[in-house]
Amino acid sequence: MAYVITAACVADSSCVDICPVDCIGPRPDDPAYDDTEQLYIDPAACIDCAACVDVCPVLAIYEAGALPLKWQHYAAINRQYFRESES
Ligand code: SF4
Ligand code: SF4
Repeated sequence: MAYVITAACVADSSCVDICPVDCIGPRPDDPAYDDTEQLYIDPAACIDCAACVDVCPVLAIYEAGALPLKWQHYAAINRQYFRESES
């Protein structure tokens, strides 16, 4: 399991610096940050510490198994973001 960022995200990057394994992107210093509608969590790197949940001002982050029904597809959306950036 990993944590997942959902549509509520306002891309303010509060969660980026708190993450101990740097698995949230795009970072503000990434050119992709300027155009992104939200940030994403790399499920392969997330260690389930939940530190990001407490700093998110809009409650956009959920543990994958606790996603609201309407946002369950965001687990795949987060995963896909990092797959595409690897290719
Ligand atoms: S749960 Fe922890 S490791 Fe996973 S994205 Fe949030 S801060 Fe990073
Ligand atoms: S703290 Fe919340 S709103 Fe801000 S970038 Fe992270 S997930 Fe998005």
